[in-house]
Amino acid sequence: MSTLRFHAIKKSLNRKPIKIEEKVRRSELFGQNVFNEDKMRQYLTKEAFNSVMDAMQNGTKIDRVVADHISTGMKEWAISKGATHYTHWFQPLTGSTAEKHDAFFEPIGNGRAIEKFGGGQLVQQEPDASSFPNGGIRNTFEARGYTAWDPTSPAFIYGTTLCIPTVFVSYTGEALDYKTPLLRALQAIDNAAVDVCKYFDKNVKKVNASLGWEQEYFLIDRGLAASRPDIQLTGRTLLGHSSAKGQQLDDHYFGTIPNRAMQYMRDLETECMLLGIPVKTRHNEVAPNQFELAPVFDEANLAVDHNSLLMDVMDKVAERHDFKVLFHEKPFKGVNGSGKHNNWSLSTNTGVNLLGPGKTPMSNLQFLTFFVNTIKAVYDNEELVRASIASASNDHRLGANEAPPAIISVFIGEQLTSVLDELQNVTNGKLSPEEKTDLKLNVVGKIPEILLDNTDRNRTSPFAFTGNKFEFRAVGSTANCANPMTVLNTIVANQLIEFKKEVDALIKSRGLKKDEAIFNILREYIKKSKNILFEGNGYGEAWEKEAKKRGLSNHKTTPEALKAKVSKKTLSLFEDLGVMNKVESISRYEIEMEEYVLHIQIEGRVLGDVARNHVVPIAVRYQNRLIENVKGLKEIYGTGFKKLAKEQMTLIEEISGHIESINSNVTKMTNERKVANNIENLEEKASAYCNKVKPIFDEIRYHCDKLELLVDDELWPLTKYRELLFTK
Ligand code: ADP
Ligand code: MG
Repeated sequence: MSTLRFHAIKKSLNRKPIKIEEKVRRSELFGQNVFNEDKMRQYLTKEAFNSVMDAMQNGTKIDRVVADHISTGMKEWAISKGATHYTHWFQPLTGSTAEKHDAFFEPIGNGRAIEKFGGGQLVQQEPDASSFPNGGIRNTFEARGYTAWDPTSPAFIYGTTLCIPTVFVSYTGEALDYKTPLLRALQAIDNAAVDVCKYFDKNVKKVNASLGWEQEYFLIDRGLAASRPDIQLTGRTLLGHSSAKGQQLDDHYFGTIPNRAMQYMRDLETECMLLGIPVKTRHNEVAPNQFELAPVFDEANLAVDHNSLLMDVMDKVAERHDFKVLFHEKPFKGVNGSGKHNNWSLSTNTGVNLLGPGKTPMSNLQFLTFFVNTIKAVYDNEELVRASIASASNDHRLGANEAPPAIISVFIGEQLTSVLDELQNVTNGKLSPEEKTDLKLNVVGKIPEILLDNTDRNRTSPFAFTGNKFEFRAVGSTANCANPMTVLNTIVANQLIEFKKEVDALIKSRGLKKDEAIFNILREYIKKSKNILFEGNGYGEAWEKEAKKRGLSNHKTTPEALKAKVSKKTLSLFEDLGVMNKVESISRYEIEMEEYVLHIQIEGRVLGDVARNHVVPIAVRYQNRLIENVKGLKEIYGTGFKKLAKEQMTLIEEISGHIESINSNVTKMTNERKVANNIENLEEKASAYCNKVKPIFDEIRYHCDKLELLVDDELWPLTKYRELLFTK
């Protein structure tokens, strides 16, 4: 084993798990570092408290004078918890979170100082934001962007810093972050869903979208990860032969969590408790060293913030435990990748889950209304839904015979399929009394309150109904959930608006009763959007063929998939609902295309370097040993050596073959990169990276991986798959 590998592995084996002591109950820890309702009551004046609550619940603006009171209370609380700094915490389009810390400390002359934090500093800040991605919205010479407080997500203390969740917008008001469009989409669905709820219950005043994400990840020893330049720089392995044992025995899934990983999780969970992230579930995932963490669901904006914060906290806690967290969708070839299921539903201020079947036929009609409208929304916008989860790293899952396919379809389970089949036959227009009774008793009335056990069977579906929520499973593990959540809530909002119009029109034009009109419209929706429903195996080739017949898209690569983000239809959809104007949509598209290009570019460079600087030199060294051996045999045995050196000579030639292929392919790839870099048009450039540069990765990898098998293990410089995946 090469000395580098040897030392990395030895160090890893010698690491002792840090023992995490839990002396305080988690319920007591929960939310301790969050400026939540309880703390606000304690630290704010009544007026300030009411003002924040009003802003949270109804979106009212906070008066500047009141903001001063709020900031004072917040500061007192933060200082009492040991905070020295504050920051506006936001989610720029880089994919990670951003923060710039300022101290509360403020000199006031005469060598004295105070702790200061005014309403102005709470409400708005102007970070120098010129180097965040903006897709051409801001020219650098007018680089002003500002962050503005989002009172719907509570401030929290991380370390010694008070973090204030904010939106990030340009000077001219365009969104430069993930949160702004999400908040607008949540407003849109709130309005649209409340209007539809009024058919069933006049008391509904607010509808919240909820999100429960499930975060998958790999935990790799820090030293082992550092021994691999590809992991270090791209978050995944660009080469490496499969381990003789992988996940085929299924012995990791739901197995006992290894001790070191367990201590990491407990430490992480404690941090999450303090930060009010309600994590609840932890388990081993399918691949070795792969795990999952899931919270109790929450209001979507808060849940998105929690997930972004969590990923950050996971990295930080990992440092303490000498781990590196791999969030990448496909860190290792040949074993399962990671996703981030987004469980989504809608609930009313009256406490009703709109995607949960109810006890009465009428509440079930409400359920069916939201259920069918969601299906229709996904059908009408399947390409946009696919685009919302597109990224270079997620391409390794979608369409690569793993996790959900790149074709968007909806799984609803046997029971609901038969309900929809029945509904399809509802009479056009007025319903006879018999039919009404039949619908009430035998169709709608038969939907069991608990569907959980009857759905959730099909793990290959990208968008599955799981009893009382939809589960968007195609989301990638590195993604910011705001992206898919913005799209999902926008398309459903749009659909609900449409639905309301159509129902009202039917009531008016044909004098139908409300439920008759609803049945009529739902019937048409079911007929129209049937093609999106699929209960079979999503991985198979048969489905690809079938989906094509049904007219569903199958965009396997990001540059193809992203185009739906700037179609005429999408641009007007976002604009009409006030989620993003055209400039915002187009700039986001450009940022994502650009990011794709950079991603592949970096991977190409790293792969080229590793192949030429690590793999080839070692292969040559090993080949020289073989040559020495052959020479020696010749010296001793004279002409008889050929028989004895046959294998060695074959090996020498094989190695030369692989070296030749690596070098020529790296050269070819470098040339293709140069060609791509010279392309001005972003779409063409991305397409060149996707179709000309990236395919050469596989060629290079193939030969490197072959050499890994041939070359003496003692010489091989790169930590191997078995070591990365099975060192605990
Ligand atoms: P798995 O997919 O691993 O089998 P589940 O399907 O039980 O797990 O998913 C559980 C996730 O769904 C949890 O994160 C939970 O909080 C979330 N969830 C449950 N109900 C809702 C809801 N009404 N809205 C959003 N998320 C929900
Ligand atoms: Mg799930």
